[in-house]
Amino acid sequence: MLKIVFFCIPAHGHTNPTLEVVRELTTRGHQVWYYSYNMMREKIESTGAVFVSCDDCDMEMNLSPKDAARIGKDLALSTRILVDTTLALDDKVCADMERLKPDCIVADSMAAWGKAVAMKQGIPFVSSTTTFAFNQHSAKIMKQSFGDFLKMLLSMPEVSKQIKRLQKKGYPVKNILDILQNDNNTHTIVYTSPEFQPCSETFSDKFAFVGPSIRPAASEIKKTADKLVYISMGTVNNDRMLLYKNCISALADTGYQVILSVGNLVPVEDFGTLPENISVFSHVDQIAVLQQADVFVSHCGMNSASESLYFGVPLVMLPQTAEQSGVAERVYQLGAGIKLAKTDEASILHAINTMLTDDNYKQNAMALSESFKQCSGAKGAADKIIQVCKNRT
Ligand code: UDP
Repeated sequence: MLKIVFFCIPAHGHTNPTLEVVRELTTRGHQVWYYSYNMMREKIESTGAVFVSCDDCDMEMNLSPKDAARIGKDLALSTRILVDTTLALDDKVCADMERLKPDCIVADSMAAWGKAVAMKQGIPFVSSTTTFAFNQHSAKIMKQSFGDFLKMLLSMPEVSKQIKRLQKKGYPVKNILDILQNDNNTHTIVYTSPEFQPCSETFSDKFAFVGPSIRPAASEIKKTADKLVYISMGTVNNDRMLLYKNCISALADTGYQVILSVGNLVPVEDFGTLPENISVFSHVDQIAVLQQADVFVSHCGMNSASESLYFGVPLVMLPQTAEQSGVAERVYQLGAGIKLAKTDEASILHAINTMLTDDNYKQNAMALSESFKQCSGAKGAADKIIQVCKNRT
């Protein structure tokens, strides 16, 4: 029986794909401890893992809303949070690891404290990556010059100051990239297919592309028209009333069945009386909808894009963040969707009709669906972790 420790950040998109992997490991008789946050307790415990709460050490909780909005955009602040979290967890996690003596640590690519403690204690390590794997080749799709990014990171005095704090506590970290980047020597699980991952041939065989983890539908959607159009801007930046209204006007007379998921920031009542073919919800069973949909108008979050392609549904894409732009660019390159440059009624309708009438988009989406289904999934990810435990490399 192997002993495996997982670390993750408090985000469903990063946690969900790991749950099936943990379930697979516990079913095979291995012991798993999962360090996460109380909001995830229930779903983690349901996998058979021992849940360990990091809430007392959650530095993000101490941030002002203004600071919180800067995370991800402000590198110095992000590094400080990362180092603060690592140091806040240091005593507890180091003592726990010394006692548990795990065969392997698996940490989300953003839960850098997991990688840091593995480095400190010489424990075999596997990175869990829910976005595209990142190197100087794949970075190009994010329209970010990798060289400039590295230079900026390495030259920031604030970042060096934070690294010194880690070194003082015995972490063998030379620079921030040691914990933020997975080089070709780092065992890495990536939840997509080699076909969807940009430049997958430039990654070593330590990278396992195991495919997306698609939860089963919890309900059934009735198709009431020949074509079903699904619209959602995800669960975070979905305050897009003007866009939703333009979609409704554009699609009112088409006879298409339209399902709009608008999130919690826009009250469903504000839409007033809707055309008969259009329904608006704050949340839907997206998997159930995609099983029936013919086109998905999406912000192109990694999960939404993967779910859409898994069911062979082409995308009309409206990315907002750098990560979503990278995903949208890849879908576009592979011919399974188009990006929407303008959000007026005519542009929306034209893009949707293109997806519905040009069969190439559907076929390319189906090819990606096939690539996902060929992947080894949670079983492959579990095999990879077990192999790392046994080889202790
Ligand atoms: N989702 C859902 N119902 C909705 C809207 C979203 O189940 O009405 C799920 C969707 O299936 C996906 C996740 O929420 O798994 C959204 O993740 P994604 O990475 O696409 O975007 P984010 O919300 O993180 O921006």
